[in-house]
Amino acid sequence: MTTKFRFAPSPTGYLHVGNARLALINWLYAKKTGGIFLLRLDDTDEERSTEEFANGIQEDLKWLGLEWDELEKQSDRTAAYDAAFDKLKAAGRLYPCYETGDELEYKRKRQLSRRLPPVYDRSALKLTDEEKAAFEAEGRKPHWRFLLDQEVVGWNDHVRGDVEVDCASMSDPVLIRSDGRPLYHLPSVVDDIDLKITHVIRGEDHVSNTALHIQLFKALGAEKPEFAHIPLLMGPDGGPLSKRLGSLSLKDFREEGLEPMSINSLLARLGTSDNVVPQLDLAAVIEGFDIGHFSRAAAKFDPAELRNLNAKIIHDMPWDQVQDHLGLDGASEDFWMTIRGNINVVGEAALWWNVVSGDVAPVVEDQDFLSKAAELLPDGEFDDTTWKTWTTAVKDTLGVKGKALFMPLRQALTGQSHGPEMNRMIVLIGREKAVLRLAGKTA
Ligand code: GLU
Repeated sequence: MTTKFRFAPSPTGYLHVGNARLALINWLYAKKTGGIFLLRLDDTDEERSTEEFANGIQEDLKWLGLEWDELEKQSDRTAAYDAAFDKLKAAGRLYPCYETGDELEYKRKRQLSRRLPPVYDRSALKLTDEEKAAFEAEGRKPHWRFLLDQEVVGWNDHVRGDVEVDCASMSDPVLIRSDGRPLYHLPSVVDDIDLKITHVIRGEDHVSNTALHIQLFKALGAEKPEFAHIPLLMGPDGGPLSKRLGSLSLKDFREEGLEPMSINSLLARLGTSDNVVPQLDLAAVIEGFDIGHFSRAAAKFDPAELRNLNAKIIHDMPWDQVQDHLGLDGASEDFWMTIRGNINVVGEAALWWNVVSGDVAPVVEDQDFLSKAAELLPDGEFDDTTWKTWTTAVKDTLGVKGKALFMPLRQALTGQSHGPEMNRMIVLIGREKAVLRLAGKTA
């Protein structure tokens, strides 16, 4: 049987690290099992869903490399939800309720003040036809609740092991609002059935939803899929991921210039028993993926760890992987290999590109020393031996060594006090610029 997974974001905002992690886990599991990855846009909330967010989500997923095999929008599938509504109603599993939001809130408060669990009391089930007609005559439109079987529902969760939820302590969920629009539960289960989803992997905030979904699968005459509930991400201090860490949207990380593979490498391993390791491509991440390695404990996400990982990825990144997004006209493999160890994000390569090909104001403390050193430059084109030959000559002739020798030469040639190996840099800078900079001129 072909496995089929879905990632089901609501297009009411941009993807953040938490939902990108679920997208990645679903995608990896699909790839690992040779299955299908479906992107499902949960856009039934017309007020909050926008085209801009739907496009943003797709752009972010493509940037991460998580291409989908199929795409569905819930707003295209309302006929299927209507049919399921009719089926549940005919089976006696849906009942109309007429309470207003205020009335429900009042009931809830009264239950709480009596120390009773705030579970819906099913009073709408007892309404007579006359009472219902009276509400309708008042202009009230019903919302529809699903009549739960008051039983314990269980499943074997790929992350949590055997889970049991007692539905007797749950309110009958509202499936259809009084304006006729379905809320999340019914479309989600109908889609999982119709689109033949075999594995539902989502955040652990959905554990109790899963119990009621299992009842819905059964009521609609379908087998339930497999489930895995992934613990949520926490901030580095173990508290909720907060704004204090800055925006955690993928869009912002992308605009900051981070590599998608640093995000994939980190999110695939957070909360697992495996070490986080920098990976240069998704094939390696698929290789190391095992849903059984996710732990039940919450995982900590630290943007500093992400930036560190990004730097490690850059330091190992081969030319063919960076060439297309380096964005520096004329930059060569030689240049990249020389400077990659000195940058944390690809965008910083521009500084070094300017040092080798643009105009740099030399940092000069002792012009006399630099002028004498310039006279000792070896003849001919610069090559890998130039720096060594030259600095040995300067040391022997002018009697300067160590930092006092290397620092002024570096500062004059690059305008910087730190940077890539000078024996490589001097070749990239070339004789013409080197001579001018050693003379104190911007070149
Ligand atoms: N749109 C839902 C959410 O973002 C989907 C949950 C699910 O995977 O079923 O929470």
